Amino acid sequence: MSNRNNQPPQFRESRDLVVCSTFEEMNLKPDLLKGIYAYGFERPSAIQQRAIRPIIQGRDVIAQSQSGTGKTAVFSISALQMLNPSVNETQVLVVSPTRELAEQTSKVVGNIGDFMNVRCHACIGGKSVGADIKALDSGVQIVSGTPGRVFDMIRRQNLRTLKLKALIIDEADEMLSRGFKEQIYDIYRFLPPSTQVVLVSATLPGEVLQMTNRFMNDPVRVLVKRDELTLEGIKQFFIAVEKEEWKFDTLVDLYDTLTITQAVIFCNTKQKVEWLAEKMKEQNFTVAAMHGSLKQEERDGVMEDFRSGSSRVLIATDLWGRGIDVQQVSLVISYDLPTNRELYIHRIGRSGRFGRKGVAINFVKADETKTLTELEQHYNTQIAELPANLQDIL
Ligand code: ADP
Repeated sequence: MSNRNNQPPQFRESRDLVVCSTFEEMNLKPDLLKGIYAYGFERPSAIQQRAIRPIIQGRDVIAQSQSGTGKTAVFSISALQMLNPSVNETQVLVVSPTRELAEQTSKVVGNIGDFMNVRCHACIGGKSVGADIKALDSGVQIVSGTPGRVFDMIRRQNLRTLKLKALIIDEADEMLSRGFKEQIYDIYRFLPPSTQVVLVSATLPGEVLQMTNRFMNDPVRVLVKRDELTLEGIKQFFIAVEKEEWKFDTLVDLYDTLTITQAVIFCNTKQKVEWLAEKMKEQNFTVAAMHGSLKQEERDGVMEDFRSGSSRVLIATDLWGRGIDVQQVSLVISYDLPTNRELYIHRIGRSGRFGRKGVAINFVKADETKTLTELEQHYNTQIAELPANLQDIL
């Protein structure tokens, strides 16, 4: 489409979207429906009400809604519905930017598909190539993976794409920008021309939308609108720390409060995460740290401890912040303000999942007050100074 002003396209929802307000209305396989209810879902979320149906009808779909609104379940349910159970070949491929997300999707598919005998495999970097080959050779119907490993498996022909019906790109904004774009195109080139493409994301910048017409065919666009994308239910605060050097003591003062619930503390770089974790440990505070340079087993261990509640304070980079679902996190601290607005909602969105309440605290240096105001304006929200009675709020 020509674009006279050279402006990136706006994301507009398709007209005449059908809304299915119950899972029954979606005409799902009985065993899948049973799995959905057994998993604890009663009613579809807004994005599920709109996006599952066009996906299972075979349309290309772009679905956008805030983190925590049930997008993973959108494509997990759709993938399970689309599957031909008697074909023991890969039929749906999900790609995600991080190993944790890819594994989480594989788990969700396995759980919801519990009554369907589905064969699903997480194909991720950092794990044994041999194990992947073995799993794939034995026949896997749904593959959830990270782009590098997935491409490797396709190139070696252990992941055979002949029967592939759909490519699902999770966190599409991240996947189609910078680092991953080439890898996605590499994968795409190996897929049958008829492969259905589904993009899922919390945010969709114009550049990414513009790119979609290169590999999507008349996509159905589903948008859970911006004013539903608020930070509703999440109390947001700031602490004026003046300068960098004062952040640490501020955090130490908060530590007892953090351990009442579970907290994630975000820093902007992995060096900072490591530094902060070390410094906290030196002062005998118990903290865990998570960033992309840890070995896979270490990351698994950290996640497991945090999920089980045996560790309560996790220091992380934004890599970790993307979409990982830890229900009990109700406090998020931005030790560093995020470097862009999208990251803010990715960080904070996690504590507001499915209407759950949460608290976010931002450390703000004297020269960052403008950034804070911009965040407030952009999200049309209020970020107030932290009151003394924080414990009553949590
Ligand atoms: P997203 O991918 O948009 O970040 P998820 O699919 O991970 O969101 O869903 C967030 C949380 O909400 C998960 O714990 C998930 O199990 C739960 N959830 C998703 N859909 C439903 C539903 N229809 N009913 C109840 N809980 C749901």
